[in-house]
Parts: sequence; C-alpha cells; structure tokens
Amino acid sequence: MMADNAGATLLEKKDEPPKTPDKKKTKYDVIIIGAGPAGYTAGIYCSRARHDTLILSGILPGGQLVNTTDVENYPGFENGIMGPDLMITMRNQTKRMGTTIVDDEVVNVDFRNQPLKVLTASEEYEAKAVIIATGATPKKLGLEGETTFAGKGVSYCATCDGPFFRNLELVVAGGGDSAMEEATFLTKFASVIHLVHRRGELRASKVMQERAFDNSKIKFHLNSEVEEIKGNEKVQQVVLKNNKTNEKETVDVGGVFVAIGHDPNTKLFVNQIEMDDQGYIVLKNRTETNIPGVFAAGDVHDHRYRQAVTAAGYGCMAAIDVDKYLTENK
Ligand code: NAP
Repeated sequence: MMADNAGATLLEKKDEPPKTPDKKKTKYDVIIIGAGPAGYTAGIYCSRARHDTLILSGILPGGQLVNTTDVENYPGFENGIMGPDLMITMRNQTKRMGTTIVDDEVVNVDFRNQPLKVLTASEEYEAKAVIIATGATPKKLGLEGETTFAGKGVSYCATCDGPFFRNLELVVAGGGDSAMEEATFLTKFASVIHLVHRRGELRASKVMQERAFDNSKIKFHLNSEVEEIKGNEKVQQVVLKNNKTNEKETVDVGGVFVAIGHDPNTKLFVNQIEMDDQGYIVLKNRTETNIPGVFAAGDVHDHRYRQAVTAAGYGCMAAIDVDKYLTENK
C-alpha cells in the first residue's frame, strides 16, 4: 500500500526537536472508491471544489482502459491515445489537483451512520460523502477448462497477453466491441483468430465489425459456442459447437481470449446499497444512491453507455452532487 502524496517535504525549523510523524490520515470530506475514468474525474472535481478527497484505487488502478490498446473515441487526443497512457495522464492530473491516492483495496464499508466508513485490510477511513466508482469486471464463459487453463492459455486481456501468443491460432469468444477489438489486436501476433459468437448477428458497432471482417486473419464461427477447452500443461484445443446444427468441431489453438462483457463490481455493497437484478447500483436522483451521502459514477451503475467518456462524465456529475450535498449538510 502506498500513498502517492507520502513523502511530501516537511519544513521544520532547525532549532526545534524533530516532530513525531503525523499519524496516518484517515478522515476526509470525500472518499472515492475506484480509479477508472469516473473515479479520477470525480477526484479532480472534488479537489477543485476544495473538498479534502481520498481515492482508494484498488491494487490495479486505472480500470478497464488499462487493458485497452488504442482509444480513438476519447476527445482531446487527435491521433488517439493508448489506454494505459490515458489512465496515467488522468491519475497525474488528479494528483496535481490535490487528491490523495492510496493504492489499496477496500474490503468493507459501513454506510449505516455518518461518518461513512470505508475499510481496507489495514485502515479504517471516514468521510462525509462517498463516491462509488468501482466499475465492472470481465464475465467468464463458465467452462471447467477456463479455470484449469487460466494463465495457461486462457486470458481476458489481449493487450496484456497477446505478445505471448505469436504465430499461434487463437479463439476469441464474444460478439461485441470488445471481442472485435481483441480479435483485431491479436492478429498482430496470431496466425489465425477463430472468432466464436453464439448468435448469427454480431452485437458490435458497425465500424468495429467492418474492421474485423476486413481482416483476413479472422475466421468467424457464428451461431457457435466454445464447448470445451482442452490441453495438457496449457491450452491445446477447443471444441466448438454450432448451436443450430449441433455439429462439433475440434480446433488446435494455443489460447482462448474471453471477451463476453462485464459484471459490475458491487459485491462490497450488497445489503447496503440498492442494486438491480444484475448487481448494478440503482440511482435514485441524479448520481445519488439510496443512502444519503453515497453516490455512484460510471460502469458500476451504467450498463447502457459504458464508455470512458461517459464514465468520466458521471464522475463529474457525482462530484458536483457531492459538493451540493456537503454544502447543504455542513
Ligand atoms: P457486450 O457489448 O455486452 O457484448 C458481449 C458479447 O458477448 C455479446 O456478443 C454476447 O452475446 C456475448 N456473450 C455474453 N455472455 C456470453 C456467454 N456466456 N457465452 C457466450 N457469449 C456471451 O460487451 P463488450 O463487447 O465488452 O462491450 C461493452 C461496452 O463497451 C459496449 O458498450 C461497447 O460498445 C463498449 N466498448 C467499446 C470499445 C471501443 O469503442 N473501442 C471497445 C470495447 C468495448 P449476445 O450478443 O448474444 O448477447
């Protein structure tokens, strides 16, 4: 665990005895849980509104864009930007505005009373307002081989793992923008991509579909499912099943990339915050949750738009709502 603002220079008079270091600060006006576009934007706005703000970023800050290559649809970057670079830029901007960022994972919350409590394994933090910006996590196919070969050929992140799969045939499962993006990216390394989608029509946007269709290395298996992932030490084969004809096909592959969507990261808030049947946080009024002082921003409540720019927009909205709440509840 490391606070980014740790090590700030203390100016002490020469003649005074050395000061005992301040106890670790645990009380803030606002705590933001999560450090994707929503969390960082909320941090920027809260700090600029002069609220003492802490972001608890989790162990792997940056959210889903850390696993993305080119981002062409985030305004302000004429030639696009790599996902990880965008997130580092956002983090540095947030720190410059005065937000404290601690790379630690929240293990529990207690929103029953004010002050609101947010707990990591080693600290108990308190705040008058909390913004939940924990995002969403990739979904799994639910196959036995997926668990057996996790890290041995099964991956959820083409950007992270693609270079390990040079000159191999690979499967990409899914029919959305993520699957098209991952498949297209993986053609840089793989010899053939088998794109396996359970329906006859892709869900992806037309431009992403066209990019994938135009790539001669991508072979489409529509109305098909990955039925089995087989191997020894690592993935060697998949069994694909056509769900219209029930025909099965065994294909030799070196890896399986799963790109079938996401689940909201809301387990922490079960029984404390109202959620819908898919686990997304329900907003009551603008970015307010059912608990006064607790707000939500980004993919943790938004299953419609799910874009970096909309998450950032929600982060801004939540921070403005927090500012109003803190002003009215001094
Ligand atoms: P998504 O749009 O929800 O698509 C998920 C895909 O996986 C769907 O085709 C779905 O099939 C399939 N699927 C779901 N569960 C499955 C299962 N158990 N077995 C087999 N297939 C399964 O998710 P996404 O592609 O991750 O995209 C999420 C959001 O992010 C979207 O709004 C997207 O536009 C955006 N995004 C944008 C970019 C970009 O612009 N660069 C890149 C990535 C994502 P069905 O179609 O049959 O439901």
